Amino acid sequence: MRTLLQYFILIALAAGWMQCQPSSQNGEANDVQMSLPKAEYALVIHGGAGTITRDQMTPERDAEYRKALNEALDIGADILKNGGAAIEAVETTIMYLEDNPLFNAGRGAVFTHEGKNELDAAIMVGKDLGAGAVAGLTNIKNPIRAARAVMEKSEHVFLTGKGAEQFSAEQGLEEVDPQYFFTQNRWDGLQRALQADQPTGSIFSVPEDRKMGTVGCVALDKNGELVAGTSTGGMTNKRWNRIGDVPVIGAGTYANNATCAVSCTGHGEYFIRYTVGHDVSALMEYKGVTLTQATEEVVMNKLVKAEGSGGLIAVDSNGNVAMTFNSEGMYRGYAKPGERVVGIYKDEK
Ligand code: ASP
Repeated sequence: MRTLLQYFILIALAAGWMQCQPSSQNGEANDVQMSLPKAEYALVIHGGAGTITRDQMTPERDAEYRKALNEALDIGADILKNGGAAIEAVETTIMYLEDNPLFNAGRGAVFTHEGKNELDAAIMVGKDLGAGAVAGLTNIKNPIRAARAVMEKSEHVFLTGKGAEQFSAEQGLEEVDPQYFFTQNRWDGLQRALQADQPTGSIFSVPEDRKMGTVGCVALDKNGELVAGTSTGGMTNKRWNRIGDVPVIGAGTYANNATCAVSCTGHGEYFIRYTVGHDVSALMEYKGVTLTQATEEVVMNKLVKAEGSGGLIAVDSNGNVAMTFNSEGMYRGYAKPGERVVGIYKDEK
């Protein structure tokens, strides 16, 4: 006869064994995740996806982009390496990219049909699903700071237009003359798009100048916090106060400590309809698949079938990173202890 104590021991052993089993039918995926060493911290960035090919790029421009991506990684990775919070790393890295006119965010943003710059941004914290977003800003230097202020200093998640500007000013965020955002390159892009004006049915029929840009950053800090942030000028020649996926929580930006942090870039209308950021997280949460499996499914299967062009960056709670895109290229990079990767074209790792 077994004693009661023996039964307890048996039950405890069985419970321990079950905890080590995959939580889904996809055992292979979870086995892979369980056996990977956890990175102490990780930071991933993107500077937009699109038809970025070697033959359209000069060596100088290629070098300029790589330098900027490396500088952005330096900024964010230093914060994380020194024990800083993921939210500081994400905000500071994105501010650098917003200030850099190479990218379609902050200074260097694309122009609307009317020749203005209307900026969108969002930030999300995985610990408590805290989120803040702004859209249609015309005079706030760093929209990502406005998004953070919405999350931390208001009882709301999403502010737009004049109200968002008033709130940002009240928070003491730096205001600029809208001229600050002007770059000749983006202005010329608008002129070309206006000449070729055509309804945007599919991204593939959209003139090159009309597309893409956006910057994003996702990070895992030493405390295990995941944060995602994204900032953009949207799409060239947009009108009617069009807002893309970037500030839509769950579409262009999403973070959940239980799964991953995601920041997207691409044809926003598709990323909104396919709730891309949350879809990646939900696949991991409900199906127990790895980060890579989830991002491949959403970007390379679902979005490709829908003809939704673009990509995303993501990091999970173990510091695994993904930089997945179905376009010709995506400005991207990541840094974690002992590892640094920067890429632009499809054929780079
Ligand atoms: N997703 C952005 C938007 O639709 C554009 C981009 O990422 O290039 O506004």
